[in-house]
Amino acid sequence: MDNKRDYYEVLGVAKTATKDELKKAYRKLALKYHPDKNPGDKVAEEKFKEAAEAYDVLSDDNKRAKYDQWGPSMGPSGFGGAGGGGFHAGGMSMEDIFSHFGDIFGGGSYGGFGGFGSAAGGRRRRQQKGTDLRIKVKLTLKEISEGVSKKLKLPRYVQCQHCNGTGAKDGTAFNTCPTCHGSGVISQVQQTILGPMESTATCPTCHGEGKTISEKCTFCNGEGIVRQEEVVEFTIPAGVQDGMTLSIKGKGNAARHGGINGDLLIVIEEIPDP
Ligand SMILES: [Zn+2]
Ligand SMILES: [Zn+2]
Repeated sequence: MDNKRDYYEVLGVAKTATKDELKKAYRKLALKYHPDKNPGDKVAEEKFKEAAEAYDVLSDDNKRAKYDQWGPSMGPSGFGGAGGGGFHAGGMSMEDIFSHFGDIFGGGSYGGFGGFGSAAGGRRRRQQKGTDLRIKVKLTLKEISEGVSKKLKLPRYVQCQHCNGTGAKDGTAFNTCPTCHGSGVISQVQQTILGPMESTATCPTCHGEGKTISEKCTFCNGEGIVRQEEVVEFTIPAGVQDGMTLSIKGKGNAARHGGINGDLLIVIEEIPDP
């Protein structure tokens, strides 16, 4: 009447299996048939439940002794008030099963598995930012109290016009990155408690750009930026103090191979009143 498979058979262990062997066998099956790894797969879910049920019985000395004595054909009544549960499928809920995971996987609970989906989601390309440019501006007391506009000639890194900041000759001398084949990301297989999991990381060869320079721009030596004198205009508001730093967004150095400019940091220095 009960055509359930033998629990030892389910776990693939001998009748003499030690607790350790049971645990190992169950762990292997739980990882293989885990719902997170087999979304929507009913067969896997059944196997997952079956393994959990088998482990539930065999890992408990009392239940195992009864099971060894009576075998799988023993009815649910054999389990002293276990009701409709017993050895029958469906006796354990997924929650029951996951509550085992703490001791199976050594600490942590099912909740600890939650982050796996997002790990494979890929990483956003990091936007490069140029360095900040710091200058000192000497101001008289009058300028400090009234505010002043300044025009200064500064050497700063700007985008190379010959390669449009790409660093490649004429802005077109690129090869598809041989490491990531142009995707900018590489797959990594990591060993997790759920077995090997694939995740992605920024390609170390092209830093996520998906391409490598085949011929460098000779004007910027492949950097995409060149240093040149530039006139920068800015206004200092009234009421600044000695030692104060004002920052002007985007007026610092350009970033290599495109990206956003750094900031211009203006340090106020008061000229002492004679
Ligand atoms: Zn690459
Ligand atoms: Zn260039």
